[in-house]
Amino acid sequence: MGLVIAVDGPAASGKGTLARRIARELGLRYLDTGALYRAVARDVLQKGLALEDEAAAVAAAQNLDLNSLGDPALRDQRVGAAASKVAQMPSVRAALLQLQRRYARDPKGAVLDGRDIGTVVCPDAPVKLFVTAAPEIRAKRRLAELRARNIPARYEDILAEIKSRDQRDENRASSPLKPAEDAYLLNTTNLDIEETYQAAMTYIMSITGPSGCTS
Ligand code: C5P
Repeated sequence: MGLVIAVDGPAASGKGTLARRIARELGLRYLDTGALYRAVARDVLQKGLALEDEAAAVAAAQNLDLNSLGDPALRDQRVGAAASKVAQMPSVRAALLQLQRRYARDPKGAVLDGRDIGTVVCPDAPVKLFVTAAPEIRAKRRLAELRARNIPARYEDILAEIKSRDQRDENRASSPLKPAEDAYLLNTTNLDIEETYQAAMTYIMSITGPSGCTS
């Protein structure tokens, strides 16, 4: 099996940007597991069904089209909030688990980012990062990102959305958001993107050595 790197953290923590860059640098494949939950929510909503409809959500998870993960509609704030609702259902999580593990098992190695990669999906990953930052900082960064894309947004709304998503992700019974015991905690409250990346790479190299291999 190739090198597996688990990157977990709350909404808008910057884990996606970090995970993508690590994958590029080390020549590993990359899976944004949040996009899987977002796609399930999108498919349920597109069919005009209720998010509480567990059978519909499981069917969407079982029939997920992995080629549709680049759909810009997945980045919508509403889809993110809806994703954290379907993600509370153990049956939806179970339907997505094998797919994520199969991805991680590929001999080419992979970086997966999400909420439960280090704790549930890949508990044996040799490298686990848990990326976090104060909710106010995450809201500010998300606001700047949206404004740069000319998407109108209010700081108060984004902060409220981030807090309610944290609340749901941390307190659900099934695979709640929490650092694995052996995760490296990366608090980026006072770090910019470059400093975060450098801190992560320094840690990764301390585990793998400069070759990026664990064996
Ligand atoms: O990371 P992102 O914000 O795209 O994730 C959307 C939602 O999907 C999260 O709020 C969370 O509820 C859910 N999720 C999860 N487990 C993962 C990845 C995402 O429960 N591994």
